Amino acid sequence: MAKHFGTNGIRKKIKELTPEFVSGMCSSFAETIGKRGRIILGRDTRTSGEMVRGACIAGFLSSGCEVIDLGVVPSPTVEMEVLNLKADGGCIITASHNPPEWNALKFVDGKGLDVSKDRGEEVEKHFENGKFERADWDKIRGVENYSRALQDHEDKIFQMTDVKAIQKKKFKVILDCGNGTTGLIAPGMFRKLGCAILTLNCQPDGFFPGRNSEPTEKNLGDLISAMKNIRADLGIAWDGDGDRVIFINEKAEFIMGDKTFALCAQQEKRKKVVTTVATSNVIKDVSGEVIRTRVGAPYIAEKLFEIKGDMAGEEVGGVVWPEISYGKDGLITAVKMLEFMARNNKKISQLISALPEYHNYKMKVECASEKKKEAMERLKEQIKNAQGEKNYIDGVRIDFNEHEWVIARPSGTENFIRIFAEAKTLEKAEKICKEYEIKVKEIVQKA
Ligand code: MG
Repeated sequence: MAKHFGTNGIRKKIKELTPEFVSGMCSSFAETIGKRGRIILGRDTRTSGEMVRGACIAGFLSSGCEVIDLGVVPSPTVEMEVLNLKADGGCIITASHNPPEWNALKFVDGKGLDVSKDRGEEVEKHFENGKFERADWDKIRGVENYSRALQDHEDKIFQMTDVKAIQKKKFKVILDCGNGTTGLIAPGMFRKLGCAILTLNCQPDGFFPGRNSEPTEKNLGDLISAMKNIRADLGIAWDGDGDRVIFINEKAEFIMGDKTFALCAQQEKRKKVVTTVATSNVIKDVSGEVIRTRVGAPYIAEKLFEIKGDMAGEEVGGVVWPEISYGKDGLITAVKMLEFMARNNKKISQLISALPEYHNYKMKVECASEKKKEAMERLKEQIKNAQGEKNYIDGVRIDFNEHEWVIARPSGTENFIRIFAEAKTLEKAEKICKEYEIKVKEIVQKA
C-alpha cells in the first residue's frame, strides 16, 4: 500500500512537505520515467509554491533531468504541455481545493496520465530505499522558463471551439476564480470571446481571501447572489487549480457537475464515455457506451487512455477532453458551455432541463477508518441476495433497475461511509438512501 500517495498525488500540510521530502520524491519519480527525462513543472497560487518549486527542481536536476518550468498555471495547462512539448513527465505543485496550509505533488507520466495511488507505490519504493542515481557534475542540466503555456492552452481551446458563434452572442458572464490559477487566463480569454465579464476573486492569492477554494454550492454564495442581482447569462466558478468547474444558471441556480458532464457528452456527440461508479445515469442516456471506474481522476484518465474513449468526467464537476489532455480541464469546459448556448440559441437552464431528469439523495454514516473494510465486507454479504445488479468496483453499488440505484462507499479521507442514491423522483431517491443508511448504520455498529 502506498504510504504517501493518495488519489490525487501526495497531498500534505506544508509542514510535512519539507524540502528534503519533496526533492527525494521528485528524484524517486525521475527513476520511474527513465533517466535524464524532460519534466514539465507548474504550480498553483499557494504561498508555499515557490519553496516547493525550488525543492522539486533540486530533486529533478540532481537526477539528471531537464526541467521546463511553466510558473503559476492551471493544472490542466501542465497536463496539456506534457503532451504538447513531448515531455517524459510532469509535476504539478497543487493541493487543488484544499485549505491554504496544504500543498501537494501531482506527478504526470509521459502519456499525460496522473500517477495514481497504485502506480505511486513504485515511486515510493525508490523513496524508501533512498537510492537515486545522482547525475555527475557534467551531466547536470538546467531549467528552462517557458512563458507561452497559457497562450498555448488558449490557442488549443479556441481551435476546438466555434469562437465566432460565441462572439456574436455578446454573452454576459460572471467569473469566480476563487483566487486560484484560472485568474491568470480566464478573464482575458472570455473577453476575447466577446463577453462582457464581471470578475470575483480573479486576483491570484495564496491566502484564498475570497472564498473557500472548493466550488461547492455552500462556498459559492457570493457568485450566486451576484447572479441574482446582475442579469448575466452564466456564472462560472473554478477550484484552486482549474481542473474543476461549476456553473450557475441565469436564474442563479447551481448546476450539478454530472449534468454539465452529460451536456458536454450530448452536445459533442461523444459515444464512448468513461466515468466513475458514483456518477448519475444521465450520462448513460445521452451517450453510447459508458465505462465505469473507481472514484478518482487518475482512474478515469487511465481507462480513457486504455480504451481510446471520447470523453471522461466526474460528478464533482470535471470533464476530460482527450484532444487536449487526460486531465480534467475546467477552462475548455467553460468555453464549451457558451458554445452550446450560442449554437442552440438557448439559455443554459433550457439546455440543462432538456437532459433526462434524475434526482439524487446523499447521506453519510460515521465509521472509523479501521472499521471501514469490515463494514463494507459485511454489507456485501448482506445484500448478496438482494434484487438488482451489483457492482463492487468501488464500494457497493446496486442498480435496482434502469433508473434507480444506490452506492455505499468509504470516504478516502474522512471517517464516513457515504451513501448516494438516484431515482426519477426525489422522494424515491430519498427513500432508497434512507433504507441503506439504516443498513449501513447497523453494520458499522457490529463491525
Ligand atoms: Mg482541482
